[in-house]
Amino acid sequence: MQLVSPSQSEIQVTIEVAIGLVNDLGADHLEVRTTLDEAGFSRATTASAASIARLETSLSELSPLISALPDLDTEQARVLLNEELTELAISPSIADHDGVGPHLHWSPSTAPFDRQVIADILMAIAQELCDNGTIRFGRCGAEDCQRLFYDGTRNRSRRFCDDSRCASRTHTADHRARLKKAE
Ligand SMILES: [Zn+2]
Ligand SMILES: [Zn+2]
Repeated sequence: MQLVSPSQSEIQVTIEVAIGLVNDLGADHLEVRTTLDEAGFSRATTASAASIARLETSLSELSPLISALPDLDTEQARVLLNEELTELAISPSIADHDGVGPHLHWSPSTAPFDRQVIADILMAIAQELCDNGTIRFGRCGAEDCQRLFYDGTRNRSRRFCDDSRCASRTHTADHRARLKKAE
């Protein structure tokens, strides 16, 4: 893949894409191809329908692991992720395209698109576990929302998923609760 902007690390972009897709798996607006294209996966637009369908299946299989990350400590996540990594066929190379500078690709450009995306996702999570553990994986704090998020803030202050309604309705509820207490 290529970076959307030089300020975003490829690992973070890939993890956020994975989380976004897992969040949308159960919803009726799952748009795998569009989501990946917008995130800078350059092969997304030309990938075959079969490859996109296989990718949806693979994401469903990975979904329980990714969804559990906010609840797992790093050791638990390490063990579970290793089970996935042992089955991952990768063929790394150092790529340099589109002015991004040298960076790792885990699959050759001839690999099926779904295999490339899954390899990118698993290796990004692996790198994240080594760098930060599971601490940046979170679940939305709004009532009745189970969506996941990746907390890329410096002071790890993120509380809500990327649905802006979750933050606003929680703040409204908090405000009402405070008013009630003050009565
Ligand atoms: Zn690349
Ligand atoms: Zn939410």
